[in-house]
Amino acid sequence: MPPLVEVRGASKFYDVSTGWLRRKRRAFAAVEGVDLAIGRGEIVGLIGESGSGKSTLGRLICRLVEPSEGKVLFDGQDITRLSHREMIPYYRRMQVIFQDNTSSLNPRRTIGAQIVGPMLRLGVAKDRRSAEAEAIRLLERVGLRKDFFLRHPHELSGGQRQRAGIARALAVRAEFLLLDEPTSALDVSIQAQILNLLLDLREEFGLTYLFIGHNLAVVEFFCDRVVVMEQGKMVESLPAEELFSSARHPATRHLLDSVLGIGDGRRKIELESQERTGLG
Ligand code: ADP
Repeated sequence: MPPLVEVRGASKFYDVSTGWLRRKRRAFAAVEGVDLAIGRGEIVGLIGESGSGKSTLGRLICRLVEPSEGKVLFDGQDITRLSHREMIPYYRRMQVIFQDNTSSLNPRRTIGAQIVGPMLRLGVAKDRRSAEAEAIRLLERVGLRKDFFLRHPHELSGGQRQRAGIARALAVRAEFLLLDEPTSALDVSIQAQILNLLLDLREEFGLTYLFIGHNLAVVEFFCDRVVVMEQGKMVESLPAEELFSSARHPATRHLLDSVLGIGDGRRKIELESQERTGLG
């Protein structure tokens, strides 16, 4: 079986020409020559300093950004040159959860309407009534009572909004989620709840994640494999549990060294997961 997501030799150049009539032509590589394969059910963490190209790579995969070079394959199919229309089934199968999803939720519409709408538009529900029933079931599954169906985004906390976004992704039967710092803005305890929810959902729905994060303790806890980026290039890939013990590349070592209070962060997450499983 092919990997669910594959990037081959992907680059993204931005024109940063300067001078009179931009005569000094210069291209800046936000992502350069990246090869990455993500297997079904795998959680890959993407780390690197700010500006190293993590978000650009994530967006290239979902075709929110067009690659300058290289290919993106989803489920074995080259999607690099598909038209918008041809991409629609893939946009459905690949969903994005951003750090702050206020911009992806419409402030004027209820949470329920924003889950049901895409289900109907994308043809994953046979009629409105079944879409509504499914939306309520999914809201409850992600930990939101059914009255959240009629609430507006501003009535939700940050963590609840992330849960609603996750329910919406599940509703359109997403297979791959790009998680772009999805919990960075949340309190530690809420963060752990959302991460544990995502881990459970991966099992239940057979999901695959690309997780962009800056908290290395979270990345180690949440991911199967970690990929390290530096100045647009992928410089290291290793199992998450070896991140703290075996990382070799100077860029990774630098990230590890610059993390303060690693021990504390790790311990908190562990405690949360123990509480959840009743082991604590
Ligand atoms: P990260 O997610 O690791 O912080 P990004 O992928 O957001 O990094 O950005 C990588 C680099 O590409 C940064 O230097 C950023 O300034 C640059 N970049 C991103 N988007 C654009 C754009 N639309 N135009 C010009 N430069 C960009």
